[in-house]
Amino acid sequence: MDPVYLDNNATTRTDPRVVETMLPFFTEQFGNASSMHAFGAQVGDALGKARKQLQALLGAEFDHEIVYTSGGTEADNAAILSALETQVGRDEIITSAVEHPAVLSLLAHLEKIGRAKVHIIGVDSMGRLDMEAFSEALSPATAIVSIMWANNETGTIFPVEQLAGLAHRVGALFHTDAVQAVGKLPIDLSSSQIDMLSLSGHKLHGPKGIGALYVRKGVRFRPLIRGGHQERGRRAGTENVPGIIGLGKAAELALEYMAEEQTRVAALRDRLEKGLLQRIGNSFVTGDPSSRLPNTSNVAFEYIEGEAILLLMNREGIAASSGSACTSGSLEPSHVLRAMNVPYTAAHGAIRFSFSRENTDTDVDRVIEAMPPIIERLREMSPFWRERDKQAAGFNPTYA
Ligand SMILES: *Cc1c(COP(=O)(O)O)cnc(C)c1O
Repeated sequence: MDPVYLDNNATTRTDPRVVETMLPFFTEQFGNASSMHAFGAQVGDALGKARKQLQALLGAEFDHEIVYTSGGTEADNAAILSALETQVGRDEIITSAVEHPAVLSLLAHLEKIGRAKVHIIGVDSMGRLDMEAFSEALSPATAIVSIMWANNETGTIFPVEQLAGLAHRVGALFHTDAVQAVGKLPIDLSSSQIDMLSLSGHKLHGPKGIGALYVRKGVRFRPLIRGGHQERGRRAGTENVPGIIGLGKAAELALEYMAEEQTRVAALRDRLEKGLLQRIGNSFVTGDPSSRLPNTSNVAFEYIEGEAILLLMNREGIAASSGSACTSGSLEPSHVLRAMNVPYTAAHGAIRFSFSRENTDTDVDRVIEAMPPIIERLREMSPFWRERDKQAAGFNPTYA
């Protein structure tokens, strides 16, 4: 049987059309865009076209608002570190408790070395930002607000436009980690207040090792990486030509499939959730049902371990991911579910199913069929399951 891949928020398959577009740039068209000969000129033209393709996906007004990076992580780091330099006299940063480690561990480091004061804003049980705490944290000392567009674990979408407006009122810059949003949600930066936005190629059927930071025209920027004059001096180093070309093609395809993402992919996700919740008791969906990515579902199966579920799923040829990360032998539930106050008994058994345009109805049927016996088998072995009536739930999912 074909494997079922439902871990697209971790990475996507590079679209074969993307690979095909990239291949000549490893062979015949190997030039360096900076060179003063035909080899370079050819590549320069292709890079220009790829930039336009990405610009179109973002609705960016100017192509030079795009700075290519090695991925989402570098884009996040570049945005935040730039703001600390350009926003003279401001050393506070506001973020959310559910950001990707690309943001959270950088901020923890900046705080530790005394470079910035960081405000981490909490979320409610559906993963929605605490707007009151957010507004209270804003001040004339705020250099930058960095809040993700959509969460990678639950799919919860944040009101980035509103947050950008609030940030601007105190003169702060607004950055969003949109790695999970780009290609899944329509984006039009020409009519937006967002100052900086991060994206990553491999999350939208593009290659790994390429991403971009959008920097709105007029927003001052200090490079993270210094050297040559590539990217108008904003990111030195010979361009990752095949990567940039591949990201351009991936962006073009993402625009083409955008409507399908909203309809067919969302319908697959909804059918999976319905099927699982109907067949498996003591399970619920986490995240905000009214404001969620079309491709993401995070289902908590109470009283069992996510890692064990994944192992048995893997035996059935089904790939997904769990919120927990095995650190030093102790299984800690994900920081996202902990921030949402999902009780440990449920957070431990959370599984993220993330779809893409490559998934089919057959995939959903396979998972709906495979999961009930897996969950039942693990619960039979679980002391927590046997003791469940004695445990106070303390958590009332509004959506089950
Ligand atoms: C994957 C991901 C990143 C990191 O992107 P890379 O290109 O792998 O560095 C950052 N933020 C979010 C929300 C992600 O999902």
